[in-house]
Parts: sequence; C-alpha cells; structure tokens
Amino acid sequence: MSDLTKQEIVQSVPQRGFFGHPKGLFTLFFTEFWERFSYYGMKAILVYYMYYELSRGGLGMEESTALAIMSIYGSLVYMSGIIGGWLADRIFGASKSVFYGGILIMLGHIALAIPGSMALFFASMVLIVLGTGLLKPNVSTVVGEMYSEQDQRRDAGFSIFYMGINAGAFIAPLIVGTVGMDINFHLGFGIAAVGMFLGLIIFAYTRKGNLGLAGTNVPSPLSPAERKKVFVRIGIVAVLLAVIVAITVPLGLLTFNSVVVLVGILGILIPTVYFVVMYRSPRTTGVERSRLIAYIPLFIAAIMFWAIQEQGSTILANYADKRTQLDFAGIHISPSWFQSLNPLFIISLAPVFAWLWMKLGKRQPTIPKKFALGLLFAGCSFLVILLPAYWGGQDSLVNPLWLVLSYLIVVLGELCLSPVGLSATTKLAPSAFSAQTMSLWFLSSAAAQAINAQIVKFYTPATEMQYFGIIGGAAILLGIVLFLLSGKIQGYMKGIQ
Ligand code: GLU
Ligand code: ASP
Repeated sequence: MSDLTKQEIVQSVPQRGFFGHPKGLFTLFFTEFWERFSYYGMKAILVYYMYYELSRGGLGMEESTALAIMSIYGSLVYMSGIIGGWLADRIFGASKSVFYGGILIMLGHIALAIPGSMALFFASMVLIVLGTGLLKPNVSTVVGEMYSEQDQRRDAGFSIFYMGINAGAFIAPLIVGTVGMDINFHLGFGIAAVGMFLGLIIFAYTRKGNLGLAGTNVPSPLSPAERKKVFVRIGIVAVLLAVIVAITVPLGLLTFNSVVVLVGILGILIPTVYFVVMYRSPRTTGVERSRLIAYIPLFIAAIMFWAIQEQGSTILANYADKRTQLDFAGIHISPSWFQSLNPLFIISLAPVFAWLWMKLGKRQPTIPKKFALGLLFAGCSFLVILLPAYWGGQDSLVNPLWLVLSYLIVVLGELCLSPVGLSATTKLAPSAFSAQTMSLWFLSSAAAQAINAQIVKFYTPATEMQYFGIIGGAAILLGIVLFLLSGKIQGYMKGIQ
C-alpha cells in the first residue's frame, strides 16, 4: 500500500477556487472538456470520412463496414479503460496517466490530420484507444480524490464535471464538424488535435497549483520483482500477437469479420470475468456478494441503453446524412451537427432532473427503477424514428425534427441512467475492487458497442422499420422486466439507495 492517506491528499488540494469547489476541479473540468471536444469532434466526422468517396475526400469504404468500424472503435476506446486503470493503480498513478493519455490522443488526431494512407487511419485508432483508456477513467478518479468522503459537495462536483464533458461534446460537432464537412476532413481532425493540445497545456500548467497530491498516489505499486515479471509477460504477449498477425493475415484468416466477432466476444467476456473474479474473491464479503448480484441486471440494462445511445453517432448519423432533409427552414444543415443535440439536451435538462429528484426526495424512483426508465426512453427514441418511414416510405427525405425528437427522448433516458450508473457502480462493487469501478462502468458502454458492431450490418433503408422496431421493442421489454424485478433487486442491494 502507498503511504499517502486519503486525508493527506484532500488536505493538499486548495479546497476553494472554482464555483465554491476545490481549485483542482478547474483543471480537471477543462482537461476533460478538451479531451471530449477532440473525441466527439473526431467522432462526428469519422463515419462520413470513412464512407464518403475518394472524390469527396473520404476513404470510400462500404457504409456497413464504416458503421461496424465505428462501433468496434467505440468499444475498444472504453475497453482499454481497464488497461488505463491498471497502469494508474500499479505504475503511474492517475495524474501521470491522464497526461500520457492526452499525449497519445493528440498524436492520434494528428495522424488523422495527415492526408494519406489507411495505415495512418489505423495507427490513429490505436493511439486514441490507448490514450483514452489512460485518460478517461483516471481523470474522473482524480475528481473523486479531491473530496473527503463526508464532503457534501462531492455529488455536485461530479455534476459540474459532467457538464464539462457535455459542453465539450456540444461545441465539437459545430466546430470540427463544420470545418471537417465543409472544408476538409483532415483540417477537422487537426482542430481536434489542437483541442487536445489545449487540454494538455491547461493540465500541465495548473496541475501543481490546483491538484496538490491528488492523482499522484500509486495505490498498489508493483514491487521490482513483479515489475520484471509483468514486463516479461507484456513482451511475450506482444510477440505472440505479432506472430498471430503475421501468420493469419497472409493466410486470409484475419478478416474484418473475424475482428468484429473477436471484439464482440471480448465485449461480453471481459465483464463476465470481472464479475466472476469479484464474486469469488475471498476479499468480497457476503453482503458485497448480494450487492454484486443486484448489480448484474443493472449492468445488462446499461448495455442495452448504451447500445441505443451510441447508435446516435453511427446509425442515426447515417440517417442524418442519407434520409434527412438537410436544406431546412432556409439553412443548410451539416449532418455532423446532429451530434451536438445529445450534449445540448443533457446540458439543458440535467438541472431539471436534479431539481426533480430533489423535489421528489424520498419518493423518487429507486436505482433499478431509474434504470428501467432509461431503457423505456431509449426504446421509445427508436420507435419514434421508425414513424417517418411508416407514414412516408423510405424514398422521401424526412423532416429533421424527427431526428431531433429521437435525440431528445434518448437523453431523457440518459439522464435517468447515466449519472446514477457510475455512483451505483461505486456503491455496489466490492470495496476491494474500488480502484477498478470506473473502468467497470465504462465496460457497459464497451459491451454495448461490441454488440452494435454485430448488429449494425442489418441496417439499410429497406430494413429500417424492422431494425428500429426490433431494437426499440427489445429495450422496452427489458425495461418492463426490470421494472417488475426492481423490488427484488432493491432487496439484494442491502440498504444501498
Ligand atoms: N457520454 C459520456 C462521456 O463521454 C458517458 C459515456 C459512457 O459512459 O458511455 O463521458
Ligand atoms: N451525453 C454524452 C456524454 O455524457 C455525450 C454525447 O453522446 O455526445 O458524454
């Protein structure tokens, strides 16, 4: 164990200086703001970059391939949080991990900014996957470290941080999207790189003064002997991977489809292993085992929710491009702008939800019921987008307000599920595994997108009604089941509210 106590860390952080919150919240807010700006900016144009023809500056891939790559990519970005969490826990500490992660992310966007080959495109994916894994879970961990357990401002601190995430996600499609779509994709990716650079500058220059010791602790450092063992193992795995690639590629075995299947398996397998290990660990108490059982249906609900929410940047992005009237009310709409709707609605409605929960006080829905509501809204957001084809067929272009409505409804669900999801994970996961809870929560998103990679190929304008109908219907059904089970689940939670 490291010798820094929780109390020493909290005391080292200037406790005021950012809207009545610890000064470090300024640093973390803007670091994450710019990181999300770069991520969601890139994401808002990436799918179009992949399937637009070469003559329009794209890579000319098939649409269904592009959609599957988007999902695999999103899945790996959140899966790598496990590696980032582990590195912070045992080698670097959270703060250094955030910084190194930011550098990798920036390099990833620079690789996309250089016009050129497929090789650069894949190199960029690797850099951004690893970089986000290092940065994203750890920057949130440091937010938590600045507050003592009893600090009343803790939840509010996370809400402000959540606003930073969505503020970055909101302006990015408007800036990176507009430049990327109207001028040149690579210039757009370049702006994403500049965004991450600004985040790094803010982090580097204000971390000493604002964060004190927060993020510097390495919770369970590797001993020199363990270090050696780990590096040897990493070396062996890297060599094995290289050998596998070197053998399977020339034989034609490592096809795109096999990668899609592999990510799909990993997306389900990794959280399953996590649950089994936590459940069987001797460090997990009886009460914690019961809570873990309660957490499983919530985790499954989260997977279903994110599967729909994340299709907002794949299937619905495609819908915005192909099925929607983009000359509307006298303006020309860029399809990438639709990506700003989710964060815009989050920012505007989060305070309303916070007020609502406060007003309801003890009468507010329990955690399982909030998850069920999340699923019902997500399902409805897909059923709504089925209607234009039902009434107007698949040939005419659709009024963009349908898409706006769909994004609005999914956000109602997101506000029921996402903010409570992370805190529910913290409360329900066994305390011996607390360092990994952030990555565990992101695994719900990783699993969701791994599943999406398998199903997006069923989407075409000709099948869109069935596609939205089946997935939306499944979410609603799961939501109802969860609602009916909510009392039982609450019982297994053993007092957690
Ligand atoms: N949209 C939020 C973010 O980027 C949540 C993502 C998730 O948990 O999947 O931080
Ligand atoms: N609402 C998402 C999140 O909280 C952002 C997005 O999907 O654009 O970061």
